[in-house]
Amino acid sequence: MELVYLDNNATTKLDEEVLAAMLPYFTDYYGNPSSFFNIFGQEAEKAVQNAKTCLADCFHTSSVNDFIFTSGATESNNLALMGVIKGSIKTHPHIIVSSIEHASVLNVCKQLENQGVLCTYLPVEPNGIINASSVENAITQDTVLISVMSANNEIGTIQPIDAIAQIAHKRGILFHTDATQYLSYKLIDISKIPIDLFTASAHKIHGPKGIGVLYANANARRLLQPQLFGGGHQNNLRSGTLNVPGIIGLAKAVEILGRDQEKDNQRIATLRNTLLQMIKEHHQIFVNGDMIHRLPNNLNFYFPNISSNYLAEHLSNVAFSKGSVCLSENNGVSHVLESLGLCSQEIESSVRFGLSKYNTLEEIIYISSRIRRMLDG
Ligand code: PMP
Repeated sequence: MELVYLDNNATTKLDEEVLAAMLPYFTDYYGNPSSFFNIFGQEAEKAVQNAKTCLADCFHTSSVNDFIFTSGATESNNLALMGVIKGSIKTHPHIIVSSIEHASVLNVCKQLENQGVLCTYLPVEPNGIINASSVENAITQDTVLISVMSANNEIGTIQPIDAIAQIAHKRGILFHTDATQYLSYKLIDISKIPIDLFTASAHKIHGPKGIGVLYANANARRLLQPQLFGGGHQNNLRSGTLNVPGIIGLAKAVEILGRDQEKDNQRIATLRNTLLQMIKEHHQIFVNGDMIHRLPNNLNFYFPNISSNYLAEHLSNVAFSKGSVCLSENNGVSHVLESLGLCSQEIESSVRFGLSKYNTLEEIIYISSRIRRMLDG
């Protein structure tokens, strides 16, 4: 077997269907949607509107103005947090986030703290899941935003966003969720959960890199202030010429999820569980984070006394991530694994396997036999 890709929580392969949908917008319909006085611009604008309608359908909202296109999840998270705080009229606004958020939330909080904003970082339980009642207890008179990710990018734990959104809604506080990883598993249903803002990125769902979206309902847009200034695109909320092929690709990737993800999830979970079972039969393995409330594609684990470097050396044709190297924090140690209470040796030994619809049973059997040989040898 040549190369096996198991790093799908980092990024995913572009779906051929997505590529096919995007290509004409590079080669034939390359107009600028703001140039609506010419036919090229009109074609591009029409495609963007269709993409928005597709997103509105998939996420069960009626308003196409709820979608603000960005360069990815990092920008969407920045816009959500910075933009809401900038629009707040409170003298000392307060934000509540979980301690296992991605750096594009946590580092924004650090910036905001420098500007006098109060931030509460809620710990997670040892299984990597936040207790919804801890959110309720952290609310103050000055809380303007609660931001809790729907699913974690390192350990795949799924957070109780429904309960947290209800708490925020009842108290009249905006709720944002970073759904970057979660969407590969489930599309958010805005008609059922009172979410005011959510973040998504195409490259985590078999779409292209460099395109993301911030969903912001009318309630959130009343406060939201832009972070990029220019020609006033997207109702003045995010200036810059629209990335038309990217937008088409993002919408197509979401549409495919709506169509296929239920059956894909089952297959992916079966492959992930098979891999875990095959390894478990021969060796002691510790899984980081809850196994039930977890993305079906994620496995983050360690073998006692086997470093992740050793595993990487012996599985050099398998693409995966080291759990110890936090992709997002500067100090090089995963703040997520730390927050689960793992010791440094356990963190050093941890690895993350991320599966996708493109993985096969043959690959799983191959990897488990390679791991077995490595541990036996
Ligand atoms: N949030 C989460 C949960 C992520 O997994 C990532 C990507 N690792 C991001 C935000 C940033 O995404 P992007 O690469 O689109 O900026």
